[in-house]
Amino acid sequence: MPKTLAARDAVLADPGGSLLALDFDGTLAHIVDDPTRAFANEQSVAALARIGGRIGHIAIITGRPVHQALSLGGFSGLAGLEGLVIFGQYGRERWDAATGHTVAPPRDPEIDAVEALLPQWLLAHDAEAVRIEDKGLAIALHTRGLGEGVFDRLAPELSALAAQHGLDVEPGRQVVELRSAVIDKGDVLLSYVAEIGARHVIFAGDDLGDVPAFEAVGRLKAEGVTGLLICSASAEQDALVALSDLVLDGPDAVANWLEELADDL
Ligand SMILES: [Mg+2]
Repeated sequence: MPKTLAARDAVLADPGGSLLALDFDGTLAHIVDDPTRAFANEQSVAALARIGGRIGHIAIITGRPVHQALSLGGFSGLAGLEGLVIFGQYGRERWDAATGHTVAPPRDPEIDAVEALLPQWLLAHDAEAVRIEDKGLAIALHTRGLGEGVFDRLAPELSALAAQHGLDVEPGRQVVELRSAVIDKGDVLLSYVAEIGARHVIFAGDDLGDVPAFEAVGRLKAEGVTGLLICSASAEQDALVALSDLVLDGPDAVANWLEELADDL
């Protein structure tokens, strides 16, 4: 029997001991030009609500803040998702449907220290036009529109500044984030599996940020947990394909797969 089917059968045979964990963007929602319009596939949300009534645990693990995942997903207050847990900002925030509350670790005082010195620092680096965004648990510095080379010139200097304060940098497209030492999706998945004692874990994701979660499931498998890794594939990113037990053609195919799982449960 293919291992994919074996893992799925294990979930069907022991739904109470199973965790279904999913990424949000690119997995439950299509990637769109305007990220504030990346709504979850309604078919997936409906399927999750049906699955939630049968399976032990469902979790969403996303880079987005919890409040965005909630507003784009419409998960709050849905029958069947009373036990849903959302880990936002790669696990720095946690929302439990059972309480309706989001908890986040206190802000790293080094973030405050860096924020206080940044205006002077940017001036000294001839970059006072860089926009500073306070994201709460991180500071983002935006260089979009400031001309060629500003980002490339500043990025290594900001890495050095972050290192002096024990912070990590997360470079993006014309933006650098300074934040506390990173938790990744793998850390949060492992700690949640330990918390709930899951015996079977399904994880679905689409992008590089999901690789640590895939690796975490690999470690769990070595410890005897049943794992099923699903890639929500796209033309943009194929890093997860080789790591996956099952490759689905994007969020619409994920929705169909979830619906079939709901039917079979
Ligand atoms: Mg994603």
